[in-house]
Amino acid sequence: VSDAFSVPVCTQCGHALWPSRPVCPRCGGTLFEPRAAGRGVVEETTRAGAVALASVRVDTGPVVIARLAADAAAGTAVELRWRVAADGRRRLIAVPPA
Ligand SMILES: [Zn+2]
Repeated sequence: VSDAFSVPVCTQCGHALWPSRPVCPRCGGTLFEPRAAGRGVVEETTRAGAVALASVRVDTGPVVIARLAADAAAGTAVELRWRVAADGRRRLIAVPPA
């Protein structure tokens, strides 16, 4: 099971937030709407034990941390989506574009 990834965007100034916060750090706005953030570029990769992680700059601006579903070097374009793990928790994963 997987779901599209989106980030909240301030309706007042257009700033995209990740992680989401109750108040926009740029303008103090408190209204947000989700904007699809399904694509980005790997900036850095790291390992946490057996798990490969990447910081990914998404098209809408913010950098998000996601699990790498396949090896990807810095500069690689990836797609971001939520995957529900066996334990029921949602994890953000980065996969190479199909
Ligand atoms: Zn704002």
